[in-house]
Amino acid sequence: MKNYKAYCLDLDGTVYRGTEPIAEAVDFVRRLQTEGIEPFFVTNNASMTQRQLHQKLSRFGIETAESQIMSSALAAAKYIKRWYPDKTVFVIGSDGLHQALAQEGITQVEQDADIVVMGIDPAVNYEKLATACLEVRKGAVFLSTNRDLAFPSERGLLPGNGAFTTLVAASTGVDPVYIGKPEGHMLDAILYEHGFVKNDMVMIGDNYDTDILAGVHFEIDTVHVNTGVTPMEDVMKKDVQPTYLLEHLGFWTI
Ligand SMILES: [Mg+2]
Repeated sequence: MKNYKAYCLDLDGTVYRGTEPIAEAVDFVRRLQTEGIEPFFVTNNASMTQRQLHQKLSRFGIETAESQIMSSALAAAKYIKRWYPDKTVFVIGSDGLHQALAQEGITQVEQDADIVVMGIDPAVNYEKLATACLEVRKGAVFLSTNRDLAFPSERGLLPGNGAFTTLVAASTGVDPVYIGKPEGHMLDAILYEHGFVKNDMVMIGDNYDTDILAGVHFEIDTVHVNTGVTPMEDVMKKDVQPTYLLEHLGFWTI
């Protein structure tokens, strides 16, 4: 197996399952750290702040710097700062997104925005969606943290950010730029900030349609682990194969 400089690990289904750590993944992170390599954690979850994700990893015995964690909320904020500096933003989203934008020094407004950005918002309502539609119709750039149409909860599958984003897209006829996986923006943010080249990087995850395709779209190596969403036998039927297929990260030799 090749040695990389930037190991980009998905979280849910790869490092933990909900509230339970995946022991082989925690050990894999420790083995990397023993070699002096700090892995990156790359999640589509835009509702939790970097600090909340950091605390969750810490509870599972993973000690890392907050700056090693890349969420779709943070990547959206970094994308705006890099490509639309000094522009104002109207936000539909929760703490994770609001804090990420504040952290990057981006001004949030309630009207006349240059950019509309959407993330999962449990307090979403008609008025917020109406404002998003009006701003997009007035020419605001339209961004969204991720495409997830539904996400699992104890009550069953609940509507995800992609469902609300689709509503605004359908009403306005404007398609958004999605930031989260399977797009490569989060990986690009890591490359750009740390000065990596694509050959240095590998994306590791359990979900073929998000994690593996993000790596494929960004043209870096990928590792599918059989610890979460996509069963290995389903991955093996895909036209585009990950670079490596592993039962779990215990099989990765560094
Ligand atoms: Mg996952």
